[in-house]
Amino acid sequence: MTTAFASPSTYVQGKDLLKTASKYIKPFGDHGILLTDDIVWGLVGQRFYDYLTKGGLKIEHVQFGGESSPEEIDRIKEIAAKSDAQFVISLGGGKTNDTTKAVGDQLKIPIIITPTLASNDSPCTRLSVLYSEDGSFLKYLFYDKNPDLVLVDTSVIAGAPVKFLIDGIADALSTNVEAQSVRRARETTLLPLQTQQTEAGLALAERCEALLFHYADQAVAAAGDHTVTPALDHIVEANTLLSGVGAESSGLAAAHSFQNGLTALSGDVHKLSHGQKVAFGTLLNLVLEGASDERLVRFLTFEHRFGLPTTLKDLHLENASEDDLRKVAELTTQDGETIHNMGFKVTADDVLEGIKAVDAFSRSYFG
Ligand SMILES: [Zn+2]
Repeated sequence: MTTAFASPSTYVQGKDLLKTASKYIKPFGDHGILLTDDIVWGLVGQRFYDYLTKGGLKIEHVQFGGESSPEEIDRIKEIAAKSDAQFVISLGGGKTNDTTKAVGDQLKIPIIITPTLASNDSPCTRLSVLYSEDGSFLKYLFYDKNPDLVLVDTSVIAGAPVKFLIDGIADALSTNVEAQSVRRARETTLLPLQTQQTEAGLALAERCEALLFHYADQAVAAAGDHTVTPALDHIVEANTLLSGVGAESSGLAAAHSFQNGLTALSGDVHKLSHGQKVAFGTLLNLVLEGASDERLVRFLTFEHRFGLPTTLKDLHLENASEDDLRKVAELTTQDGETIHNMGFKVTADDVLEGIKAVDAFSRSYFG
């Protein structure tokens, strides 16, 4: 058995971190590019740029077009190459981070990620999700290493609408459920190395779940009030570091396959975020693995408390036909999906019944 663990080289998290960030960046060189979209530029980007340039760094601001597409990656790569950038900094959400990772990988320069949201685990992983210019999914890109530096300013995270933190909590909640499925099955992880879990990877996934159950209520209240507290610190770390590294080094299973399976349908279900779709997928993972009532209820009530989808109605699928649900189940179980990491054969039929079981259990539990 070969096991592997990977993570960003350095992860730094703190309140007002962007105001002291240059000391972490300077070891990588004195000039680079800063990628932000328009909105982030107005909120924090310009201030961050002014701070870095006043501190002696030569930074070129590049406006992100909004899609992590091959075209956008090529465009930014050209700008970075022309200015002979020594590093590339992302300031923004998942798509800005994913584009930055691709640019840094292709130019072989250090990648610095400064997430403005704790809504997903893109900052710490060695992969990007690529979309076409019109926003449809294209493929995953896997890299040889994780980002060189991740800088998380908790006051920036707390300044964002709280729904983004809840999305991140939902995505993070799946981490240990899926990691335990992969552990039982002795399957390979998400790292592009065909390797199995280390105890370190599994420990992060378990700690991720523990932090969510201990601190999510307090953290959501604090973030709703745009306040940084120790509980928020714990949840930001769970959503960003533990969820990302935990998932990557411990593997995925049914929860994320379900979120992929939902692309079989069009319509309002896609108004939901990645985390919201994964939330239902986590319950499906638990039902398929045969989790106890106690464990299922623990996750169900946690998700319900934060307004996450636990029924077909919550997924805007209350009027979906049997055929539509079967299409989701079939896509969820297509070849190559991580649902085949469960350790036993999972058919489209099993998934279809599992989806209905989650819906029925949730409806009967909450009356
Ligand atoms: Zn996810």
